[in-house]
Amino acid sequence: MRKYKFLILRRIIQLSILFLFVAGNYFGWELLRGNYSSAIIVDSLHLSDPYAILQILASGFLASSSVLIGALIILLIYVLVGGRMFCSWICPMNIITDLAFRLRRMFKIETEVRISLPRNFRYYILALSLIVSAVFGLAAFEIISPISMLHRAIVFGSGAGWAIVAVVFLIDLFILKAGWCGHICPLGGFYSLVGKQAVIKVKHDKDNCTNCMACFDVCIEEPVLSIVGKESDFIRSGACTNCARCIEVCDDNALKYALKFDLKK
Ligand code: SF4
Ligand code: SF4
Repeated sequence: MRKYKFLILRRIIQLSILFLFVAGNYFGWELLRGNYSSAIIVDSLHLSDPYAILQILASGFLASSSVLIGALIILLIYVLVGGRMFCSWICPMNIITDLAFRLRRMFKIETEVRISLPRNFRYYILALSLIVSAVFGLAAFEIISPISMLHRAIVFGSGAGWAIVAVVFLIDLFILKAGWCGHICPLGGFYSLVGKQAVIKVKHDKDNCTNCMACFDVCIEEPVLSIVGKESDFIRSGACTNCARCIEVCDDNALKYALKFDLKK
């Protein structure tokens, strides 16, 4: 159980948010309505995805002041506190891509044709999405986002939504390890960039580390663990999702959550 405590907590939070969206749609509950790009809490507080708002602004449309304030609140939370925590604690696609990652590991699935993408590919997709939004006057990624698709599939029963989610799952399972979240998703890329200096980080203690590499085995962003076994420091890369899987599987107490207040690097 100790090895899964954060995982269980993350799933409870992710599924509770999904449940509240479903309940808002089917039972009229007002606790949480909308979607992952723009939601309203208790019919009063707007919360918006800052990347979605960036696309809307790039497309030439204006957002209302309540939506802009909602985006600013979310941005500040991730910039100052949580870094890329949206990915592992909120985003429903994380449940799907984690499953593919786990099955791939469990059944030792290796791709016949080796496909490699640089980890910063997502930043190009991020830039491209803003350019396409500006050129075509629409929020480009929002139209095809598997996150929105999964939300629509669950809340409205959209078949097209399930199809897109299945494609992402199969790519992750058979073609590219951690393909979507680790290489392609521009929203994950956005939070990687803005959350680099957030205060909640994973901290590594080299003196406790036995170099067993268990953390590498479970991490979808394994390059961020490059200091493991070499130096005691925070995992400073913004790409770390703060999922805490590395902490859970470490039997040597060499990894833990900690607060980082210095701005080194
Ligand atoms: S990388 Fe994208 S799809 Fe994956 S968890 Fe993060 S926001 Fe969700
Ligand atoms: S370093 Fe740890 S917390 Fe960060 S993404 Fe990897 S497993 Fe998750």
